[in-house]
Amino acid sequence: MRVAILSDVHSNLEALEAVLIHALEQQARSHVVLGDIVGYNADPVEVIARLASLPDVTLIAGNHDLAAIGRYDVSIFNPVAAEAIAWTAEALTADARTLLTSLEPKRRAPVGLLVHGSVVKPDIEYVFNAETAEKSFKAEPFDVCFFGHTHMPACYRRDADGFVVGSVLADGTALHLDPGARFMLNPGSVGQPRDRDPRASYGIFDDDAMTITVHRVPYDIERTQQKVRDAGLPGVLADRLSDGR
Ligand code: ZN
Repeated sequence: MRVAILSDVHSNLEALEAVLIHALEQQARSHVVLGDIVGYNADPVEVIARLASLPDVTLIAGNHDLAAIGRYDVSIFNPVAAEAIAWTAEALTADARTLLTSLEPKRRAPVGLLVHGSVVKPDIEYVFNAETAEKSFKAEPFDVCFFGHTHMPACYRRDADGFVVGSVLADGTALHLDPGARFMLNPGSVGQPRDRDPRASYGIFDDDAMTITVHRVPYDIERTQQKVRDAGLPGVLADRLSDGR
C-alpha cells in the first residue's frame, strides 16, 4: 500500500490541495500528517477541515498546533511565529479546536512510529544531524520513524552496527529501506519549505516495495501570499514562501 506522508502544512491550503492531487495520482490510499497543521499561513480552519475529510488519515500534533490551543508556551516562539499563533488561536472554530485538542505529538501507527520533532522530545526537538538522530534511535525500538519539524526532507539510516548516516531525500528519487537497518524519515514541509526550493514537499511511502519517495509539487504561491497579507499576518511570512526558506 502507498501512504502519503505530509508534515508542516502550516495553514497553507493551496499547497495542501496540490499535494493531495499529486498523492492521488501516485495511488496513495491513506495519509499521515506529522503535525504543525496550523501556524504561519492564513487558512487554519480550511486546512483542518480538508485533512479531517480525508477517508484514511492519521494525524499528530506539532508545537504550533499545541500552542494554538494553549497547550504550549508561546514565549519560546520567535515574535513572528508567536504573532501568527495568536492570529490562529483567534481564527479557530470550535470544531477545529476540538480536533487539535485530540492530537498528541507522538503516536504509533501501522506504517511506523510518528513524531513531530524527535522520539526523545516529540513536541520540540529538531533532528538536523546524525548525532541527534542517534539519540532518537536509542530512545525506543522502531524500524521506521516518520518525523517533521525541520521543514527539510531527510533520511537518517542506522545500520546493524549502530552507525547513523544522514542524507537528503531528493525530488522523485525512491530510496529503498533495506531490511536490517532502521530509518528516520522526514518528508519536508508541505506549507513552508525551508531548503530554498519553494515547491511543496511530501513523501510517498510504499510498504510493499519498502521505498520512500519525496515529491516536490508546484502550487499557487502568489495566492497563498496574498491571503497572508490580507489576513494582516507579518509580511515576512508571505515573502519567505517564494524564497523557500
Ligand atoms: Zn513547522
